[in-house]
Amino acid sequence: MTKQRSNEDQMPVGAAESDGAAAESGRNDSVKIGSNIESKAAPGSEVRGAEKVGNHSVTHQKASAYEVAQHQLAMVAQFMGLDDDHRTYLSVPQRELIVHFPVEMDDGSMRIFEGFRIHHNMIKGPTKGGIRYHPGVTLDECRALAMWMTWKCALMNLPFGGAKGGVVVDPGKLSKRELEKMTRRYATEISNFIGPERDIPAPDVGTNAQVMAWIMDTYSMHKGYSIPAVVTGKPVMIGGSVGRENATGLGVTYVIRAVLRQQMARSLDDLTVAVQGFGNVGSWTARSMHDRGARVVAVSDVYGGIYNENGLDMRLLTRHVAETGSVTGFPQAQALTNEELLELPVDVLIPAALEGQLTKQNADRVRAKVVAEAANGPTTPDADEILNSKGIMVIPDILCNAGGVVVSYFEWVQSLQSFFWDENEVRRQMERKLLDNLDVVIRVSTQRKCTLRMAAYVIAVERIMEAIRLRGIYP
Ligand code: NAD
Repeated sequence: MTKQRSNEDQMPVGAAESDGAAAESGRNDSVKIGSNIESKAAPGSEVRGAEKVGNHSVTHQKASAYEVAQHQLAMVAQFMGLDDDHRTYLSVPQRELIVHFPVEMDDGSMRIFEGFRIHHNMIKGPTKGGIRYHPGVTLDECRALAMWMTWKCALMNLPFGGAKGGVVVDPGKLSKRELEKMTRRYATEISNFIGPERDIPAPDVGTNAQVMAWIMDTYSMHKGYSIPAVVTGKPVMIGGSVGRENATGLGVTYVIRAVLRQQMARSLDDLTVAVQGFGNVGSWTARSMHDRGARVVAVSDVYGGIYNENGLDMRLLTRHVAETGSVTGFPQAQALTNEELLELPVDVLIPAALEGQLTKQNADRVRAKVVAEAANGPTTPDADEILNSKGIMVIPDILCNAGGVVVSYFEWVQSLQSFFWDENEVRRQMERKLLDNLDVVIRVSTQRKCTLRMAAYVIAVERIMEAIRLRGIYP
């Protein structure tokens, strides 16, 4: 049974992108958009006690992703002695757009959608960040994700600030025609906010290359000529970059491999790995880890997880997901829950789904040696402290999953220049950018005796502060 709307109109994720690595790893690109969307309340929350860092306090309430992001900034500000004025400046988004717009559905009814686009900070250049289609999308979630994009772009030394957007919708419940109409109308609503020199969207949870193609086309129709550089993660045929679709997952593998080599003198050979989430990032991470010798013993999606201590056959699993829409029910494995997956005694645990998965409630039960954050914001600050006290190394999201935005940057450059690179060049340049900045993070973490997350944040915030000093405060 297929775990999604059975609609022939559904668009395969990345179907239009040609990617040599797909053939290499047996991928047939038929995971469907929205097939794995969690249709519950907003994720990323946990109840937290009263605490105060700097002059930022979170008291006895559900911590949203935005509060988590602000809390992280407050801790960094305190660690590096950042003054309160600049901390406040960096803790709020520069621009926020909320849109409500109608779409005529297939049955003739009209449905009103809510969407957002947030620009967190543009001191380093145009803003960059994904567009999420998910029922749990909120203004606060977009604010947090935009802020994390600012740090990620600064850490990778890209000429971008951070942005994020989204629509409150389960795309798996729309027909392809409805999805296209909703996307084109959302793109129209935010069109004054985006542009190649202004803000460049990309895919995130629930969106894919086809969605980017519709946004690019809508924006281009309004202007009267083709403007491929307005989005990244679009199909190669219309100006996308080879190697973008698998960039985030491959980048996660490059970073894990380098961290293990440098910090633990370990290779990927027979390393045990559990991956939460089997969408774009999770599936490519699992496959690229597997291709390089790791033993992927467990994976999951919103429907549940599967486990095989001898390692899952990625080729067969990919076929199973293409046929059924979920990893669950895979014959060569036993079932396990998402909660159980997070607590497996593996070498590397890779959360690759949503925010707030490792919390005060479950962090103590994590038995992995390394947590590699392929998702954005999967670990709450309380959980971070617990993992740290247990000696578990956490590779922070803004470093671990930065391969996606790095290749998005390459795509933007290629689109602007109409000059395209081959896949080896894309991979080589991505690996260099990731590993150069990883070296800086490890150096700062050693020099300042802090976690990799704190080091990554310190580097990012210092780079932004330097840009603020150079540009000055207008007027
Ligand atoms: P996606 O929509 O392709 O996949 C999301 C996956 O998570 C699906 O398999 C879904 O079933 C699963 N999932 C959802 N809720 C879950 C739950 N409660 N428990 C377990 N699994 C659950 O999204 P994606 O593009 O792979 O993004 C995943 C994460 O990576 C997000 O945090 C995103 O912001 C981040 N990220 C994505 C990119 C990118 O290039 N797409 C880049 C950097 C970071």
